[in-house]
Amino acid sequence: MNKVAVITGGGSGIGEATAKRMAKEGIRVCLFDLKESRAEQVKEEIINDGGEAFVLDVDVSDENRVTYGLEQVVSEWGRIDILFNNAGINGTLNPIEEMKVEEWDQTIETNLRSTFLMVKHTIPYMKENGGSMIITSSINGNRTFSNFGMSAYSTSKAGQVAFMKMAALELAQYRIRVNAICPGAIETNIDQNTDKKESVEDIEIPVEYPEGSHPLEQKPGSPEQVADVVYFLASDASSHVTGTAMFVDGAESLL
Ligand code: NAD
Repeated sequence: MNKVAVITGGGSGIGEATAKRMAKEGIRVCLFDLKESRAEQVKEEIINDGGEAFVLDVDVSDENRVTYGLEQVVSEWGRIDILFNNAGINGTLNPIEEMKVEEWDQTIETNLRSTFLMVKHTIPYMKENGGSMIITSSINGNRTFSNFGMSAYSTSKAGQVAFMKMAALELAQYRIRVNAICPGAIETNIDQNTDKKESVEDIEIPVEYPEGSHPLEQKPGSPEQVADVVYFLASDASSHVTGTAMFVDGAESLL
């Protein structure tokens, strides 16, 4: 029986590349995304390539949409083996003093509340057979704190790693593994969900990398490079790995 994966933010960037990678390996993928037309295109490409996929319009910060989405997956395919909890936004970048409460809430709800909702509501479907949950965190909030204006984003990403560790211990009894990935800069469409206010310039401390900021490859990573790591964490090749945050950044965050 082919495994079933739910991939949030599956219509673009890291989620899209992972959906395609998993589908190539015979995993059936359901894409949760706000941008349905983009996700539909990813679905078409997967199906044209011989894979199985469908799309659901799910805002991952909305509990009713999350429970509805998971119910749809189980009624279609009868099981969930893999959760790739990946949807996220940079949100509004602002100095803390200027940041509106709504801006803070939007980033925390989209990135962190959604992680809680997706994990919580997937547990009942994974309890019996075990499974793998992978959460997309970031170098920001874990190793990197120099992206000014990103206090809400970094807090959401640090929170995801703490939550992942709590969940890994709590869910080990059901043979559900929970890990996080912490990508550095990756070429995706995330700039479309980034609103950098001019006043961030007032708080920035310049960080200069005379030799370039990406030690391994002198450039940002690709979504496909991240997808390879997610696939490893989803597969039985990582059967003894849980509670781990894996950095996928070419050592960028060590500078
Ligand atoms: P992306 O914008 O290309 O893809 C994110 C997808 O998530 C989009 O399709 C978007 O429509 C969807 N999405 C946003 N809010 C949603 C919501 N409320 N409900 C459902 N779907 C929603 O960006 P990406 O870079 O692929 O981002 C994926 C994850 O990777 C995010 O969690 C991001 O924080 C993280 N990340 C990205 C980078 C990077 O440099 N790109 C680095 C570290 C971490």
